[in-house]
Amino acid sequence: MHDFEAVIGLEIHVELSTDSKIFCSCPTAFGAEVNTQCCPICLGLPGTLPAINRKALEYTVKAGLALNCQIARHTWFDRKNYFYPDLPKAYQVSQQDAPLCFDGYLEVPVGEGAKRVGINRVHLEEEVGKSLHAGETIIDAAYSLLDYNRAGIPLIEIVTEPDIRSAEEAQVFLERLRNILRYIDISDCKMQEGSLRCDANISLRPKGSTEFGTKTEIKNLNSFRAVRRALEYEINRQAGLLRDGRPVEPETRHWDEQKGVTIAMRSKRQASYYRCFADPDLVPIDLSDEWIGQIEGELPELPGARRRRFIDEYGLPEYDAQVLTSSKEMADFFEEVVQGYNDPKTVSNWIMTEILRYVNEQGEEAEGIPLTATGLVELLQLIEGGVINRNQAKEIVLPEMVAAGKSPRQIVKEKGLEQISDTSQLEGIVASVLEANPDVVQDYLGGKDKVMGFLVGQVLKATKGKANPRLVNEMIREKLKR
Ligand code: ADP
Ligand code: ZN
Ligand code: MG
Repeated sequence: MHDFEAVIGLEIHVELSTDSKIFCSCPTAFGAEVNTQCCPICLGLPGTLPAINRKALEYTVKAGLALNCQIARHTWFDRKNYFYPDLPKAYQVSQQDAPLCFDGYLEVPVGEGAKRVGINRVHLEEEVGKSLHAGETIIDAAYSLLDYNRAGIPLIEIVTEPDIRSAEEAQVFLERLRNILRYIDISDCKMQEGSLRCDANISLRPKGSTEFGTKTEIKNLNSFRAVRRALEYEINRQAGLLRDGRPVEPETRHWDEQKGVTIAMRSKRQASYYRCFADPDLVPIDLSDEWIGQIEGELPELPGARRRRFIDEYGLPEYDAQVLTSSKEMADFFEEVVQGYNDPKTVSNWIMTEILRYVNEQGEEAEGIPLTATGLVELLQLIEGGVINRNQAKEIVLPEMVAAGKSPRQIVKEKGLEQISDTSQLEGIVASVLEANPDVVQDYLGGKDKVMGFLVGQVLKATKGKANPRLVNEMIREKLKR
């Protein structure tokens, strides 16, 4: 691979989380009984007329603004004509010539620095239905069934410039993109449910060359990991061909997750011709500066700005700020906890180590933070107040909070974890530990400080770990004054 450079451009489809579909009032909820969320309009029956969903336009503009795009002031929808059973009208309403948003960029970290990946366009279109094949794959299926619940859900397509240079960069770009789309709350972006889908275009060229090579397009990438693995595979495959002096065929390839390979699906030598033309049933749209300005004004603080604020306002290291703002939910959680427990670095440490471990266990499609901010505040206060120690908090209380959703105070009580911080309760135990270990005591009195750990340990053992170690330490020092 050293002799070649990868050139990658992504096409990302994102289902918008509007309540209703793009041209009718059918609901968009995922997982409903098949064919219960459709009507004559989204089924494209003759004689019906579509009417644009204003929210879908607004969400698309939001995405464009968050991706530093220009916003069109005059735009319209085109019909993209083709036949497929999941498209009952035999045309998809999309935007060919006048995308709502264009010429943007997204900044992604590379190595020590950052680079801008160009956003060619963000346009609005309608989602198609879903084919359910009665078999393992479409090839061995005896027949296919169709569910039109999805038909007509508003969908945006985000097309990047071919600015990405490695599989890793592609993954980081996608993670950043999803983070932003979730911050602005226009989609749940669940790759496994298909509300965020990515096709990857890739070609190689000799290092130093400024011309592009022939590209292939990889489909069926439904996780970040798949995007990365598929691109790594495809880079190697193309490099092998080029090294042997064989051409890369322009084609669409399918990623086989099980086998870990890409497979040729169809050639792109013959250009598909969609006979696009402006949809005569939909009026062109003029967007006012006021409306765009209003949407811009309502944008939430985006991840980059929030990261910088976390550094300035809470004095967090760059790394902490980066991790904490990598999801809106996590950043909100952090700020809520700090409201109740004003020690940002301690809160950050807890979230980045303990809490993130639970989140990561849920995998790439994390359902969220499995405890409340109030819960974490209470836990930190219990530690600070000496009621429990840090180890008990991490090993006993936190897992129980996550598993059973109980408050830390309740757990401490039920498990009898309160630290003994009362000298009168510890007096007798300390005395008997010293009595039982005369040699160690002699060592200590003779100047061996490190045996203190052993003595404290014995008291902890006798109290099943409940004695407050700092207090025990003080008591022993007091008794054995040298
Ligand atoms: P097509 O005509 O095949 O649809 P486009 O020019 O519309 O190609 O680009 C589709 C996607 O492919 C974009 O994300 C673009 O950045 C990317 N792309 C274009 N040319 C190349 C190339 N030579 N290598 C890799 N990606 C490319
Ligand atoms: Zn409908
Ligand atoms: Mg194209």
